[in-house]
Amino acid sequence: MSSSTTLEIVRQRLLDLHDKSCLTWRQISDLPGYQGINHATLAGIARGRDPKDMRVRQLLGLPLPTAHITVVIGYVPEGSMSLGAWRCDCGQWFISNSGNRRKCYICSPYKGKRRKDKERL
Ligand SMILES: [Zn+2]
Repeated sequence: MSSSTTLEIVRQRLLDLHDKSCLTWRQISDLPGYQGINHATLAGIARGRDPKDMRVRQLLGLPLPTAHITVVIGYVPEGSMSLGAWRCDCGQWFISNSGNRRKCYICSPYKGKRRKDKERL
């Protein structure tokens, strides 16, 4: 995957294969470039659905969703993945560093990694 494709280009290609080349969605899903994508998903995209599945987006060359992130500590390279963001009681969204975090990094600042070996002393 080099450059990203727009949804409209993907949609047009699918409609051409289906309507002009008269292929079924199942046949299209067997073509190189569409293998591994469910035929119903392909039909949905042709009807204008924006696929949410990251693997499908990557296979089709569609851009992955991006967001502007405020980096509190460390380095977050462009295109980094996240499972999602949580909302603190104060309204601020944050990406948790652990399963236990319930507050944003302003309400509950990150104190650094706990050194397990030091705690034992
Ligand atoms: Zn907060």
